[in-house]
Amino acid sequence: MGAASTQPQGVKFYELGLDERREWLGQQAGLSADELAALGGAAGLDPEQADHMIENVVGTFNLPLGIAQHFIINDRPVLVPMAIEEPSVVAGASFMARLAQSGGGFHAHVSAGEMIGQMQILDVDDLPSARLKLLEQRQALLEEAAQIDPVLQRLGGGPRDLQVRLIEDSPAGPFLVLHLIYDVRDAMGANAVNTAVERLAPRVEAICGGRVLFRILSNLADRRLARARCTVRLEALAFGEFSAESVRDGILAGWAFAAADPYRAATHNKGIMNGVDAVVIATGNDWRAVEAGAHAYAARSGRYTSLSTWGQDAAGNLVGTLEMPLAVGIVGGATRSHPTARAALQLMDIHTAAGLAEVIVSVGLAQNLAALRALATEGIQRGHMTLHARQVAIAAGAQGSEIERLAGQLVSEKTVRIDRAEEILRQWKHS
Ligand code: NAD
Repeated sequence: MGAASTQPQGVKFYELGLDERREWLGQQAGLSADELAALGGAAGLDPEQADHMIENVVGTFNLPLGIAQHFIINDRPVLVPMAIEEPSVVAGASFMARLAQSGGGFHAHVSAGEMIGQMQILDVDDLPSARLKLLEQRQALLEEAAQIDPVLQRLGGGPRDLQVRLIEDSPAGPFLVLHLIYDVRDAMGANAVNTAVERLAPRVEAICGGRVLFRILSNLADRRLARARCTVRLEALAFGEFSAESVRDGILAGWAFAAADPYRAATHNKGIMNGVDAVVIATGNDWRAVEAGAHAYAARSGRYTSLSTWGQDAAGNLVGTLEMPLAVGIVGGATRSHPTARAALQLMDIHTAAGLAEVIVSVGLAQNLAALRALATEGIQRGHMTLHARQVAIAAGAQGSEIERLAGQLVSEKTVRIDRAEEILRQWKHS
């Protein structure tokens, strides 16, 4: 059913207790008891299921699952599940989504769901003529590739194009690379594409007389881009002693730092991935694939740079965009076999891979803004430290109400360190 609203009436979601939050969530999104149990941690992936997923299983590994609020994406309210261990991320995304509401929320769309399968072709006599022989057979090769996955074909997916690149210079000398462009519809597509390139390889060898060695998809999914933009009205940026103009201009100067300097860009993009990965993980998708694609795309010009852009419109409002490859699916991999991932999709009322990518790229943009705004004003540690202090308190052995009390003391002393936390706990025990 999806979210009727992104926040409870008259009370803040974060002020509710765990059970109250779950109850509200279930009502808002029309979740079944099983879905709610999967999201709430009472059920979810059990070791027997996990035993069928990977090798040498002994158990499962849990992460906190939080719900980001205030997201309006393409005019639709969405409650966004985020699986992440890092404090501040869920709060940061929610807060920035609220600021973006001032400008109509997030507008997101995706390009076609096309992945690239690669074949490395070695031992070819004459590379340029082998390349042309393959291109001459483009139609026949695509027709053969279309037979490989009847399910995808029936769903309107399958092979779309074939390209042949010539690598003139490599440590192993020159060789050809064939790209099979493959529409994977609602799957992430790695298995589908890998199967297709493996099956097509003998035919490619027969046509060009070479030897196909590597047959695997590329994670630089630059034909599967997700894009989001948002506007934050100037007046929404002011807070505390900071004027709206100073916040906006600080964000623009900080973004310019990332646009120009790879050392800063790496951290800037890491902030984006804080939001992206948390939703990718919550929906059972392959975050390594998404990470690889994002960073390769950020370096596509030959110089690693920011994945996002920030500027201002004629009225002085802050405008941001994010464009990145997003190879995520709602079928295949763990997306259907992990009960929590299934419930996460249900919570967001998402039924296509494109719809999921639109949410993820919007969360990435919101997360980026959260970091930029903090860095441009009071610094990252102020908000972060309170939450970090709770983790330090737990690590030092604090329990129940001790956690908040100890975290508060660590923050007020400005010494959020485990040795100090342990020392305070010892003092409390002996007092
Ligand atoms: P998959 O093979 O499990 O599912 C895809 C298949 O589902 C399609 O081939 C199709 O036959 C079927 N299908 C049914 N309904 C569909 C629909 N609506 N849209 C599309 N397909 C539909 O999974 P996959 O998505 O091909 O591969 C994802 C998995 O591959 C992930 O677990 C990932 O970790 C893994 N993987 C990744 C890499 C990499 O990123 N380099 C390499 C190898 C494997």
